[in-house]
Amino acid sequence: MTLPFDDTSAAKSASLADATRARELRYVARIHRMRTLGLGLGFFCVASVFRVNGEPWLVWTLLVAHGFVWAHVARRIASRSAHPAACERHNLTLDSALGGVWIAFMHFNLLPSVLLATMLAVDKIGVAGIRFALRTTAYLVASCAITSALLGFPVALDSPMSVVVACLPFLVAYPLAVSAVLHGLGQKVAQQNRWLAQVSATDELTGLANRRQGLFAAEQALAFQKRHGGAAVLLVLDIDHFKQVNDRYGHPAGDEVLRHVAHTLRACTRVTDTPARYAGDEFLLVLPATTLEGAAEIAKRIGGELAEAMFERAPGLQCTLSLGAAEAHVEMVDVEDWIQQADAALYRAKEAGRDRLVAAPRIEVPMREAAVADCAAAS
Ligand code: GH3
Ligand code: MG
Repeated sequence: MTLPFDDTSAAKSASLADATRARELRYVARIHRMRTLGLGLGFFCVASVFRVNGEPWLVWTLLVAHGFVWAHVARRIASRSAHPAACERHNLTLDSALGGVWIAFMHFNLLPSVLLATMLAVDKIGVAGIRFALRTTAYLVASCAITSALLGFPVALDSPMSVVVACLPFLVAYPLAVSAVLHGLGQKVAQQNRWLAQVSATDELTGLANRRQGLFAAEQALAFQKRHGGAAVLLVLDIDHFKQVNDRYGHPAGDEVLRHVAHTLRACTRVTDTPARYAGDEFLLVLPATTLEGAAEIAKRIGGELAEAMFERAPGLQCTLSLGAAEAHVEMVDVEDWIQQADAALYRAKEAGRDRLVAAPRIEVPMREAAVADCAAAS
């Protein structure tokens, strides 16, 4: 028996793998830049000690290769690997181990040795945290101990002025470069967090606040009203016979209507009001510092705008809303209470024939101008 092959999920996981690889290659490129700088500057520290100690040409050759070639080889290896980030971690570990070798070859000359060990640890903390830095430092210590043992434990701690001067560029430039990179990454994370916060608060189809954000706004308005008094109204709005719109004109037409209603809610309210998509064809409108009369005015404006709406995908459609309104009261225990009252009013608006506003407890207003005026007088 052959299992059906799901093209879409295969394509999705392929593009996810591509995105992960692209992210890991960017990480490799970032480390390549830092490694090129660090090893290039580190070369002069070690070379200044070798010049004083007098090392054989083979050691000089290895130092030049490490200082100016290894960064590019490491990038090539990591970029060609199936798992670039994991491969780069191995390269970083090797960096530390090689750093240990050079410290032993420098006979523990104090300034360049401490500088090398510190910068290698700074790198690792920036890239993968303190645990990784401790692990790689253990490799540095081990390779340093082995090399030093092979050389007969030579120790010459004094750093002459020529060595101090050769260390200065590394001492100054590298921490500045690391800070700049970390700052850039921090900015990127902050930007992504802002984007995530916005996405998680927004309804995808309409661009309005989503249910969670709408409830949050209602909670805030209720809390404010309970503490400071004044008025606040919650409107629950539901499109009339919306199923028929979908059935008759198709789902994309339904989506167009939802988007248009959302646009109308935004256009007819103040910036301090919060329109939100509550569910399906149901919307919330949180109106702080607003009385029922004010809410009825807004409802009238929304009804008027919708009556004139033309829909590209649903020509001739007359879109109407039913609305339930409830004023905030100090006795309300929580926002659920408030929603429940507005919802009950909405239910009555539907029962009474739709295309109208009903305010809790029992003020009923068809969505026509004269009747809305009645409501204002009645309340
Ligand atoms: P009523 O006047 O009593 O409200 O009748 P109705 O047909 O509007 O009934 P109801 O409010 O229960 O219908 C909601 C419909 O909204 C059902 C569902 O198919 C449709 N719907 C929910 N979400 C979406 C969406 O994102 N896009 C579209 N096009 N339709 C949606
Ligand atoms: Mg409906």
